[in-house]
Amino acid sequence: MIEYPKGLWYTILVVCYLQNRTACAGGKESIMALFVPDIMITSVTDITADFLRSYGIKGLVLDVDNTLTTHGNPTPAPGVLEWLDGMKQAGFQLTIVSNNTHQRVEPFANMLGLSFISMGCKPLTFGMTKACKRFGCRPKEIAVVGDQIFTDILGGNLKGMLTILVTPLAPEHGRFFQLKRRLEGPFIRKYQKRKGGS
Ligand SMILES: [Mg+2]
Repeated sequence: MIEYPKGLWYTILVVCYLQNRTACAGGKESIMALFVPDIMITSVTDITADFLRSYGIKGLVLDVDNTLTTHGNPTPAPGVLEWLDGMKQAGFQLTIVSNNTHQRVEPFANMLGLSFISMGCKPLTFGMTKACKRFGCRPKEIAVVGDQIFTDILGGNLKGMLTILVTPLAPEHGRFFQLKRRLEGPFIRKYQKRKGGS
């Protein structure tokens, strides 16, 4: 019996979801735009308080795998702990929204002193909605930070949040991941074209 990757089921769900949500995704003029990040950076640690304030951001929704650490790694990437402390001291609200399991996310979030939502089903926006309630903020006051266009960026754009795509901390080796990365190419090129003023 063929075992389909769970990402396939997410994709099917998203297609259905987009049909209903595209018309009301405020500020995003087309389906294509829903897949394009607002900002691309190398690492979460490149995000500064001043930068976030310039966008009116008050809270951050953070992905775990390949954003704060590598897949399955219980230890945050170098500089992440210090960066989180700086963000907390600057008054930003922080929470993790991960598609990974409770068993994976809970100990990691506890170690970082962060609240969390596991099995977030990004790009569906349930986790983002919970984060809005948790922060007491409107979506446009929250930035989503993650390494994947089809989960983190699409989910954040659907919710009307600022979306920040980071470079994955490590390359993935599964065939499905590699396909997904190839499919991300056109959206990254669109971002680069827009940034170049074309
Ligand atoms: Mg990730």
